[in-house]
Amino acid sequence: MAFSMKPTIRCQQKCKYCYEGISREYNAEVGEQEGKEIDQIIAYFMNPKNGVNSAPNLHGGEPLMIAKDKVEQMLKAVFTKYKESSIQTNGALITKDHIRMFKEYKTHVGVSIDGHEELNDGRWMGTLEATRSNTAKILKNIEWMMNEGISVGIISVINKHNAAADRIPKLKEFLLWLKSIGIKAGRLNMIELDFPELRDELALTEEEAIAFHTEMPAFLKENDLTYAPFTDVVNALLGFGHKTCVTTKCDPYHTLGEQPIYGDGTKGNCLRTTKDGVVFLAEKNLAGHSRVSNERYAILRQIPMNEGGCGGCRYWSICSAHCPGSAEDGDWRNKTEHCKPYYAMYESTEKNLKQTMPMLKLTTELNLPGDQVFNKIQDGTASELVFERMFKHKGAF
Ligand code: SF4
Ligand code: SF4
Repeated sequence: MAFSMKPTIRCQQKCKYCYEGISREYNAEVGEQEGKEIDQIIAYFMNPKNGVNSAPNLHGGEPLMIAKDKVEQMLKAVFTKYKESSIQTNGALITKDHIRMFKEYKTHVGVSIDGHEELNDGRWMGTLEATRSNTAKILKNIEWMMNEGISVGIISVINKHNAAADRIPKLKEFLLWLKSIGIKAGRLNMIELDFPELRDELALTEEEAIAFHTEMPAFLKENDLTYAPFTDVVNALLGFGHKTCVTTKCDPYHTLGEQPIYGDGTKGNCLRTTKDGVVFLAEKNLAGHSRVSNERYAILRQIPMNEGGCGGCRYWSICSAHCPGSAEDGDWRNKTEHCKPYYAMYESTEKNLKQTMPMLKLTTELNLPGDQVFNKIQDGTASELVFERMFKHKGAF
């Protein structure tokens, strides 16, 4: 289970596609408690009864909109309990006080940025000039943190501005620039677009999305870069685990992959599942149980692929319909709207692995009943079966 701290969901940037946009529109003040937020959040994760066993990530909205002394209070409390801390930020509001805190509380800083110049135009600041100068400032702050020895990772949202065919070369330049300053890992996440009117501007066409997902692995390998989802697919095919929540059969009403702690001391659900302004509560279901449900997955697996489900899909155990927040038509009962590009990525990665190591028996080739392959990937034991034949086989020259 992963927890985050959400003292606010407000943000000074106006990224057009933000998956928290709908929540913000309907309920921007969620959990805010007139100055008591920070104490309530800290009290929640300090309480052993709440089972927060790993360091909660400081998240938002934009967490650096909070007063510096409050940011310090949270990072310090997390560091005191877990000996490390982390934050996800848009990177624009970093000051020398934050740099000091990040060093003092061993904070890993995740920065959300989609590239330099026009690549980052989806993260709109009202005018083109303001957007571009904000992007330039974030890049400077990333460099500043690297020079100060802070651990930095990047999350880029893949959209028309940074991954249309004519933008991919520039996206690659961006990743190489990051490498040149010491950042070799991060995430390249497909856009989750809750606003249909923005599709023309921001959504990749299916062909573009497939091209992106099949072209990037070779570039990343060539340049010794480690970016999800590509690394996650290799790990799942080799049986080493589902490395991020999106392929772990996430229950949209009990999102174990992200459990936000709000400023009123309550726990909620990942805001990716919020499509109509209702921020789901996570503590209990209607029957009063904090039960996690498998219904989405049990049903989608029975519906054939050509009828909109995942029935018969070769990649079920490494994908499982993907994140409910990215479901077709914003309806978690459906599979991900990115099924085709992901399928293409799985297929090409599988082919590459088999060409490199033909003796491997990948998780897609394991013939076990029910959910056993998924479960064995989940706990990492599938890797023993994947490599078994390589260890046993001794051929003549
Ligand atoms: S809704 Fe998606 S991103 Fe959120 S916890 Fe679930 S799988 Fe992860
Ligand atoms: S690739 Fe498509 S059909 Fe296969 S499990 Fe994923 S979403 Fe379902």
